[in-house]
Amino acid sequence: MRLRLLFLPLIPLAFSVLSPAVADPLPVVATTSVLQDLVRNVGGDKVDVKTLVGLDGDAHTYEPTPSDAKAISTARLVVINGLGLEGWLTRLMGSAKFSGTRVTATEGIAPLTMQEAEGGKSKTVIDPHAWQSLANGRIYVANIAKGLIAADPANAAFYRDNAANYANQLSALETKIRAELADVPAAKRRVITTHDAFQYYGKAYGIAFIAPIGLSTEDGEPSAGDVAKLERQIKREKLHALFLENISNSRLIEQLAHDTGAVVGPPLFSDALSRPDEPAPSYLQMFEYNTATLKAGMLKN
Ligand SMILES: [Zn+2]
Repeated sequence: MRLRLLFLPLIPLAFSVLSPAVADPLPVVATTSVLQDLVRNVGGDKVDVKTLVGLDGDAHTYEPTPSDAKAISTARLVVINGLGLEGWLTRLMGSAKFSGTRVTATEGIAPLTMQEAEGGKSKTVIDPHAWQSLANGRIYVANIAKGLIAADPANAAFYRDNAANYANQLSALETKIRAELADVPAAKRRVITTHDAFQYYGKAYGIAFIAPIGLSTEDGEPSAGDVAKLERQIKREKLHALFLENISNSRLIEQLAHDTGAVVGPPLFSDALSRPDEPAPSYLQMFEYNTATLKAGMLKN
């Protein structure tokens, strides 16, 4: 009897040795502000998420700083988009000596590809902007929940519940978006943006996006011939839905508008969320705002 009494208090001690206490809240690093918002929705107050590429920032051309390596080295979970978005990440991870859990949020997504011209040749490139469809957003959320559970198993039920609730919100928003866009006739469903960030959105919700710059803002300016061709198309098809993204340079779209008489619409939010006082500070608000903005533009076509 005495032996048993002595033994019982040892059990919690043994457990605390086997599974070391996870820092509270769990330190997480996400590469972009979109991923940061998704992690916050799943992790709630159990996580402290930093983003490397800030609000209105460009993940294609990002240059990591020494403080990024420091944040990664103390994180227990790193969430990346993958599909080639973060070309700068391998070197950063190498210098950060990260030993925690790493999640690629696009794992399991069917990636879209695109033909891009390079040095006179056409090559197939993977489109990394998979978060621009809410169906993919649900896969991101499932992957993030899996990562949080692996990094912090004590809060598994909390993460699972939040992920299920948030996935339901994404589904509800998707239904709303389809209903809103149903008012736009098929012939008007054409939009011009600077870089090709909305292929997933277009495929999911039935809109043709035309972008003079390719998938990455790194690809540079299109040729004068390509610009002239696009201007002829804008005039011929009487396109008025011309948009810039919050992360890209406005010069090209402004030139197109100037040469064709089309008016540039308010900026769309593509690769990064906005500041809190702007229209797209969360993933859900980004979709609501982009959809309303696109719809207003397309109805002028
Ligand atoms: Zn992009």
